[in-house]
Amino acid sequence: LESRLRHAQKMEAVGKLAGGVAHDFNNLLTVIQNSTQVLEEQLADPMASTQSLQAITEACARASALTERLLAFSRRQPMQKTALDLPTLIEALTPIMRPLIGNDVIFSRHLGPTCWPILADRQRIEQVLLNLLVNARDAMPEGGELTLKASNHVERRRRIDALGQALRPGRYVHLRFSDTGQGLSDQTLARLFEPYFTTKKEGTGLGMVTVAEVIRESEGAIFVESAPGQGCTFDLYFPAAEERATPSSDGPGAIRGRRSLLP
Ligand code: ADP
Repeated sequence: LESRLRHAQKMEAVGKLAGGVAHDFNNLLTVIQNSTQVLEEQLADPMASTQSLQAITEACARASALTERLLAFSRRQPMQKTALDLPTLIEALTPIMRPLIGNDVIFSRHLGPTCWPILADRQRIEQVLLNLLVNARDAMPEGGELTLKASNHVERRRRIDALGQALRPGRYVHLRFSDTGQGLSDQTLARLFEPYFTTKKEGTGLGMVTVAEVIRESEGAIFVESAPGQGCTFDLYFPAAEERATPSSDGPGAIRGRRSLLP
């Protein structure tokens, strides 16, 4: 029985991962599809065409990185945490985010001026950004505004986040992601992180599951504020990389051993 249980758990994990990859893959295909369409209309304008071509090339590279991740999972590769500068990462991702969000949404960014580096897996953070972006877009079919803010934050209290985990006092990079869309009802808010929960016709209900996983992996926190018709704001906190270093006991620059959710 135990081995059957373990097998079932493994199958569930693989299924969830495959679903997550399919979800992200679909986002990238949307970029490719939209950019190709735009390109067709713009062929007369070489400057605009160059931008669309760049978006297509980049989406292809990311799509191939995603399939790489699926392979890496079957090889059981650990996450690759590196020191990341969130503002730089967001700027680098903008050519992908722009065509995803569409032309009816104003996309404003307030990044920095400087942020502490965070310790996280780059691809996973990019996934979080794209998932939140696509949800914001879907919530604003008639257009609106999406605002992304990144800044340093010193937490002085202890707060329980939307995943029921504590945000402890310390230094964090705070990422605020807000849209002016339709907002979430109380029922949706309560089930937001539930696997396969979706209110969309073509939804997978896996976008926010991935967001939650990455937040846990990064030992961060997430808060959600929303009401019907009032838009939606996600506050994400990622621990500053230096907070993770223990100067003496574990040797110089050692990274404290932390729990990882990945198998
Ligand atoms: P999916 O996007 O496939 O539905 P998610 O897990 O990403 O799956 O989202 C679950 C549900 O949460 C969505 O179907 C939607 O109802 C709601 N949601 C998520 N983000 C937003 C948002 N920014 N504004 C309004 N509703 C949202």
